[in-house]
Amino acid sequence: MQLKVKLPSDVRCAVAITYDTDMAGGYAPDGICHGRTAPFLMDYILRLCETAEDYDVRLQFFQIANGLELDEVVSHVKKVIRRGHTVDCHTYNHINLAQSSLNELENDLNLANRLFEKRLGFRSVILRGPGGYRHDYLKPENQQVILKNGYKWVSGEFDYDLLEQRDYAYSVSAPSRNLPFRYPTSLIEIPIQGWTDRTWFDSYKLKDPEAYANWRKAYGHRPVTKEWKCPWTKPEALKEWIKVNLACLDYAYEHRLLWVLCWHPYSHYIHDPSNHMLPAILEKASQKPERVWICTLRDVVQHMVED
Ligand SMILES: [Zn+2]
Repeated sequence: MQLKVKLPSDVRCAVAITYDTDMAGGYAPDGICHGRTAPFLMDYILRLCETAEDYDVRLQFFQIANGLELDEVVSHVKKVIRRGHTVDCHTYNHINLAQSSLNELENDLNLANRLFEKRLGFRSVILRGPGGYRHDYLKPENQQVILKNGYKWVSGEFDYDLLEQRDYAYSVSAPSRNLPFRYPTSLIEIPIQGWTDRTWFDSYKLKDPEAYANWRKAYGHRPVTKEWKCPWTKPEALKEWIKVNLACLDYAYEHRLLWVLCWHPYSHYIHDPSNHMLPAILEKASQKPERVWICTLRDVVQHMVED
């Protein structure tokens, strides 16, 4: 069943800005994705927080729970929360919710929940699914395990047609497709709408796979230099990334929609080291004549009603 988000009456459209804080396997020499945030990424995340605070908005982060085994990551996450931002769970071990066995899923979510409670003092409300899955790929048995572990909301569906269509108008109209819905099990899915930064920069705009593979092996998970320019993406990738996201915002505004986007601090650290994207979208949103509500995913679930 399709669900609607009832926007507050003074709001023209809403944008949920969500960041998965992975130490992405795609940038790792060993190819493993984990949540043990490196210091350079903590700095970048705090910079994103500061940008958001300049516009008086809050960000939604999703944390891989295995990072919470380290004291320095716990202090960092607590700092982010104290500043008013929201942190929810991205599984314990970055496992795909649709492709994992029921046992693996059960053990992973159980462990993640225990770490959230023990280390942060709360239970995560929304589960962000790693890696993505197509519409209806999350089987009822897997949904039951997610529900059993205390989650009413999951956000993991991704529109892989973007990669096949590669069409600008299709990309820009993302907020009109993949709307939140309730599975027959009662679990609620809030799909990711439109390009993620990872798919945009490291797949769609990839020009030199060899340079990417070589960098990853030699320099992955280490801080980049001040003069850093990513050697594997097309030179116009960042400019076009900002353009397509601002166009999505215009589209959501024009059609009075909620837009749920999914970005990664690490991808922006690599491809937008000077942090242009977030200020650009927040500035544009703040200049609209009617209010654009920049919200967290927890805000979204509080405003969800049956259509
Ligand atoms: Zn992830």
